[in-house]
Amino acid sequence: MFKRTLLALASFALAASALHAQAQYPTKPVTVIVPFAAGGPTDTVARQVAAVMSKSLGQQVLIENVGGAGGTIGVGKVISAPNDGYTLLLMHIGISTAPALYRTLKYDATKDLEPIGLITEVPMTLVANNNFPPKDIKELLSYVKSNKDKVSYANAGLGSASHLCGMLFMSAIETDLLTVGYKGTAPAMTDLVGGTVNLMCDQTTNTTSQIKGKSIKAYAVTSTTRVGALPDLPTLNEAGLKGFNVGVWHGLWAPKGTAKPIIDKVNAALQAALKDDGVKAKFADLGTAPEPVNRQTPEALRAHQAAEVAKWGPIIKKAGVYAD
Ligand code: ASP
Repeated sequence: MFKRTLLALASFALAASALHAQAQYPTKPVTVIVPFAAGGPTDTVARQVAAVMSKSLGQQVLIENVGGAGGTIGVGKVISAPNDGYTLLLMHIGISTAPALYRTLKYDATKDLEPIGLITEVPMTLVANNNFPPKDIKELLSYVKSNKDKVSYANAGLGSASHLCGMLFMSAIETDLLTVGYKGTAPAMTDLVGGTVNLMCDQTTNTTSQIKGKSIKAYAVTSTTRVGALPDLPTLNEAGLKGFNVGVWHGLWAPKGTAKPIIDKVNAALQAALKDDGVKAKFADLGTAPEPVNRQTPEALRAHQAAEVAKWGPIIKKAGVYAD
């Protein structure tokens, strides 16, 4: 009897201290894991948002870059982190393409994470080293077909957005190119500018300033409409690849079982960041915009993530691309 009372008291004390921790959250810096290299497009989105979130949360929001295997290593790290709100994940569309690409993936990101909200959907651009011969998209399409053994294509690994875009591009033009994988498109961009690789498809959040600064050349955007920050670039759809459409949606997650009061606090900070004029202006400069408010929610991200797994699975299976 005495033992049972002691046990009941101990579990009451534990529950009370968990509730206290949730009410006080955050009392120390929060880490957001970005599963790609620093300086790339996903990292850029994360740093813009984190700077404003830290003001709302009253604690630093730090970025940790965990690149490799198309983002699956970083996602796995968040899934196995403590669910106390101090480790979060900022990832993109790749979280929904990985299940079809990685046959031995050890987690199910639709179940093993708590969604917090959608952030932005970023168009991509097809870009090349300045010395790459084709001058425009029309020339590019015929050049890659007749020089396929000479053309190299950079990406951030199987399951990255650049991989997905390249896979769809190669399938649309029925031509396989030599693919070179990196831990993110920041290091890939260095090699593209330097001429080690020829071509890449990457988010405007990484390419816009390079295109405007003329350190690379651009052929087309992957969205169905032109991008305000790069108005001269045609869409791939306009260029004849009918129906081509890749938008890199980004979201924020916490490990499974993170308490609702913590998710709500982080979501409020995320929504405040996406309302911030500085973030909106920076996003516009980089060719993107915050998601509409009704999509900045856990429910919207949960539904979108699952719908995207269902959408990309059959396309990837048909392409026959996978890792073991
Ligand atoms: N843009 C990369 C991708 O292809 C990721 C990154 O470096 O942010 O997924």
